[in-house]
Amino acid sequence: MDYPKYFPKCPLCESTMRVVGEEMSELKKEGKISLDRIPASNRKLLPLMDLGRAALSFPVLQFYQDVCQNCGFEYTHTITNTKMTIDQLQVLMQQLMGIGSPQR
Ligand SMILES: [Zn+2]
Repeated sequence: MDYPKYFPKCPLCESTMRVVGEEMSELKKEGKISLDRIPASNRKLLPLMDLGRAALSFPVLQFYQDVCQNCGFEYTHTITNTKMTIDQLQVLMQQLMGIGSPQR
């Protein structure tokens, strides 16, 4: 399968407007958020690795979800597949867990 994979429409109502996407596009226009940031209300990581086998790097699927502005349904709109090392994965997971909590 080719990545990234996009699902631009809400599967329920076919709207393309999403809550976080809309909020972020304003901030991107103002230059407050970098343009390559993928908007998401929820982001899931799925490392495709076998813990019993040592590997320098392995593919990690990332599922970006956002909430439909029309009907409120949260759905996956982008799936990426990135090669990462264990260290990179740990840094990313710490960043994701830090979302919404105050900076220390
Ligand atoms: Zn919808």
